Amino acid sequence: MDNNFLKASELCKNCGLCCSGALFGNAPLLEGEEEKAIELGIKPVVDEGEGAFNLPCPHLKGTACSIYPDRLHVCGDYHCLLSSSVLEGETDFDEAVLDVESAKEQAEWLIDNAAYANLEGEDEYKLSDYQAHFKAEYEKDQFNLRYYQNYFLYKLQVQVEQGKPVSKEDLHYAEKTRDYIELIHESFRETSMLKDYSDFIESVRG
Ligand code: SF4
Ligand code: SF4
Repeated sequence: MDNNFLKASELCKNCGLCCSGALFGNAPLLEGEEEKAIELGIKPVVDEGEGAFNLPCPHLKGTACSIYPDRLHVCGDYHCLLSSSVLEGETDFDEAVLDVESAKEQAEWLIDNAAYANLEGEDEYKLSDYQAHFKAEYEKDQFNLRYYQNYFLYKLQVQVEQGKPVSKEDLHYAEKTRDYIELIHESFRETSMLKDYSDFIESVRG
């Protein structure tokens, strides 16, 4: 078997970020793949009219897929920028491992420090439903960092638009998110979120 393919497989086995919700909110299903998803215990959802399933995937155990031979089409087909680059022999395996380790460490910090405490009493933003949703997911180990980042940025933007001050803790969380998204954008998947966060941080600093 091709040496680069083995290296890319090894990299993915110790990563799992594309299955964990740290890169994507959900993953697409092929047309007609809903039945197979249900058989695998994965609940199909509809996203913008297309079949999908929410992440984190219930079959991610640690950083590896526990149903590897039976996984869905997208799972076998997807390669992030980093794994593609290892496959092509353009990125050294050890360098790629460092990127994965760094992204996992940063994602872990962002999950551990998700600013639930600061969301109390903000019914006026009509965000209490989101708060309950994220808390429930966190407790069930189904927290999706990608969705949370969208929500967190939205919440802070509303605060700024209303002329309310942004706390030091929230600004720090936004900066850490920006750093994480910068790494994701450069090494894993391009995302418009980097510009959104950078613009926001600039606007807060004035
Ligand atoms: S994010 Fe990239 S390196 Fe990590 S498991 Fe997915 S494809 Fe592999
Ligand atoms: S089935 Fe396996 S590869 Fe596919 S999303 Fe779930 S854990 Fe990842």
